Amino acid sequence: MLRVEGVTVRYGRVPAVSSVDMEIADGEVLALLGPSGCGKSTLLRAVAGLEPADGSISWDGVDLGGVPVHRRGFGLVFQDGQLFPHRTVAGNVAFGLRMAGERRVEGRADELLELVGLKGFGPRRVTELSGGEQQRVALARALAPRPRLLLLDEPLSALDRSLREQLAIDLSRLLRDSGTTALVVTHDHDEAFTLASRVAVMRAGRIVQTGTPEQVWRYPTDEDTARFLGCTTFMDGTALNGTIQTPFGPAPLTAPDGPVRLGLRPTALHAGPGPTPATILTAVHRRDHIRLTVTTSAGQVDAITSITTPPTPGTPTTLSLAPDGLAIITPTPKTPRTHDVL
Ligand code: ADP
Ligand code: MG
Repeated sequence: MLRVEGVTVRYGRVPAVSSVDMEIADGEVLALLGPSGCGKSTLLRAVAGLEPADGSISWDGVDLGGVPVHRRGFGLVFQDGQLFPHRTVAGNVAFGLRMAGERRVEGRADELLELVGLKGFGPRRVTELSGGEQQRVALARALAPRPRLLLLDEPLSALDRSLREQLAIDLSRLLRDSGTTALVVTHDHDEAFTLASRVAVMRAGRIVQTGTPEQVWRYPTDEDTARFLGCTTFMDGTALNGTIQTPFGPAPLTAPDGPVRLGLRPTALHAGPGPTPATILTAVHRRDHIRLTVTTSAGQVDAITSITTPPTPGTPTTLSLAPDGLAIITPTPKTPRTHDVL
């Protein structure tokens, strides 16, 4: 188990990472999710031993303070695979094994290539591979010595969107099937939620919330976190007996009885048959839907509609509420350690 306690990393006087507490259990995949510049890579580099840090980083209770990068038993994958261009695919994977002092190199390299879906690619030159294939090789190279922790820094960010989504699904399965313990850094919430069993949301050098993807998605700790997770409108509602009354109708969601603060993603409101009158202001095509802004008696809000019913700005419509798009702002209780409030 990895334990990070009170870790601070400074560049000059400004801390890039401030008093971070974090734990990763064996076999767990933790995603560190936050906007660009919030300190994710710095924290990952501190865990790897690439960045000096205050505080304590330990594995199974053993402090890693004096342990150099190559003796930590961690594997690393970066955004741009950083493969050796003059080596073959198999040569790249075998390099990781030789560095780890493993003797059964050839068989293991083939095994790993099969695991990442590149069976038979061993003799190929890495310069002849697509970006997605190169990232698979980087992953095979990092996994080959059986690292006790795999550190991935934006492993899919350099790839095209469709490839990224497919590779995220493949990577998720691969990490689970191989029982790999991993820390994945990403700014993309879809990616974090696809890959991780637990998500730590980071902002301005601090972890502001840790929870399962469902918890973080549904119950963000504050409006900034909710906004980062796609909420564009905030309003008040009331929870009673497992139902939340909203200005757009009831939603079957759980919150302690009483007033609640709600975050609405555009997908929370669908233009079509529904109880709430609205007027369409703007309409923009998105991948698989049309994104709208509409006015209602509760104010201006975002909504979506089907691409098969193209709306005209200025026309009236009605809205229905889709509870999947709702978030319930739920401040995390103040305790000394983030990992105590899962
Ligand atoms: P993220 O990975 O979340 O995008 P980083 O950890 O790379 O963020 O950076 C966090 C902050 O630290 C940023 O403000 C960045 O400019 C700063 N920073 C990162 N690396 C260095 C460095 N080597 N020297 C000085 N400042 C740095
Ligand atoms: Mg980064």
